[in-house]
Amino acid sequence: MRFRAGGITDVGRMRSANEDSLLLDDEHRVFAVADGMGGHQAGDVASQTAIEVFHARVRDGDAVDRAVAAANHEVHSKAEDDPSLSGMGTTVTAVHIEGRVARFAHVGDSRAYLLRDGQLTQVTDDHSLVEELVREGRLSPDEAATHPQRSIITRALGIEESVDVDTYEIDLRPGDRVLLCSDGLTSMMRDEPIEELLRAESDPDVAARRLVDAANEAGGDDVVTVVVVDAVGEDGDDEAEATRAAAASDAAAGADAGEATGEWVPPDALREEHGAGSDATASAATPASPESPAPRDSPEPPGRRWRRFALWAVPVLVVVVVAVTALGWYARRTYFVGLDGEQVAVFQGVPGGFLAWDPTVEERSELERDDLTPSEQRDLDDGHQFSDRSDAEAFLERLERKHATTTTTSTTSSTATTSTTSAAAP
Ligand code: MG
Repeated sequence: MRFRAGGITDVGRMRSANEDSLLLDDEHRVFAVADGMGGHQAGDVASQTAIEVFHARVRDGDAVDRAVAAANHEVHSKAEDDPSLSGMGTTVTAVHIEGRVARFAHVGDSRAYLLRDGQLTQVTDDHSLVEELVREGRLSPDEAATHPQRSIITRALGIEESVDVDTYEIDLRPGDRVLLCSDGLTSMMRDEPIEELLRAESDPDVAARRLVDAANEAGGDDVVTVVVVDAVGEDGDDEAEATRAAAASDAAAGADAGEATGEWVPPDALREEHGAGSDATASAATPASPESPAPRDSPEPPGRRWRRFALWAVPVLVVVVVAVTALGWYARRTYFVGLDGEQVAVFQGVPGGFLAWDPTVEERSELERDDLTPSEQRDLDDGHQFSDRSDAEAFLERLERKHATTTTTSTTSSTATTSTTSAAAP
């Protein structure tokens, strides 16, 4: 089978340094992306070291998981030996194709996808905190997309002396397309537009560049690294081209083809990594081989969602807050003396309430409905309104004084209580 590959790494729009690395070795059919972490360029050292060691090991005939284990060992040793590199680590998602068989090795939250018959399927599982919570059913994909700890990965090269490596094996068919990418792509784009773009653009190099451009247009929050590998078919076999051409025309016929056929600007220089030898030894590896991994939900990236939300939500929110404040002020600006059950009281608000604002009792009197004259009762049934509280209190005091011979009043104001008590004691 023949293969064609293209790839690119781009610093994105928010970062000043590129700590991703990629490997494109058409001759040996070995490809990889690595996303390094660690301050002061240590992440760059981690991802480049991992790629170099992995590459050398695979060319020497090691299986992909052993090659990743060797890369882990080397990154870890460098971090131990050099204090300025202490704590560095890197993801790695790699594939080695022999004949028709693609063998993937994976640690971290970079991803491998397979585009087959126009359908994109995620091959790898992210080793990230939120993805693990999603797999355990403790978080929905939507919650994961906005989770504050979504960038925390649970497995990386270089952190421990040994690392568990996930492996996957897929028998490739002519027309298949493999995508390797760092989270700079998948944190900015959902699977659907990635699939659309991969279907629409037949040249692997151009497809990779257009994915990077799309991630940057969506915000470019992180370094974006993309490798696209096409199974073109047997020598002289046009089946693959025909398959993808059909998929591309399907995509063009679709309503969403506009975005996929947009212009692209040539991005930063392509970085190719060539391996150096290493005598690191392999350690633990965990084989796992889902032939046909199930497609996963991919929520819209949080950054893009927030921008879209903010665009219309902020003005709407301002209008709502102003309206609620005005209504609340209207509903609460007046006072009235009325009846709380049988008891006379000063209320704040509008008699009977206004929308969601019910009047609240501000001051109770011991004066009761039965103490009042029929006309006073009618007046207080409707609520005797005042524009401020002191007027309402004065009105209540007059009522209390008038009926003082038959009752004692008690209000929340201590001075009022004292004066009524002394008045009651001759
Ligand atoms: Mg990243």
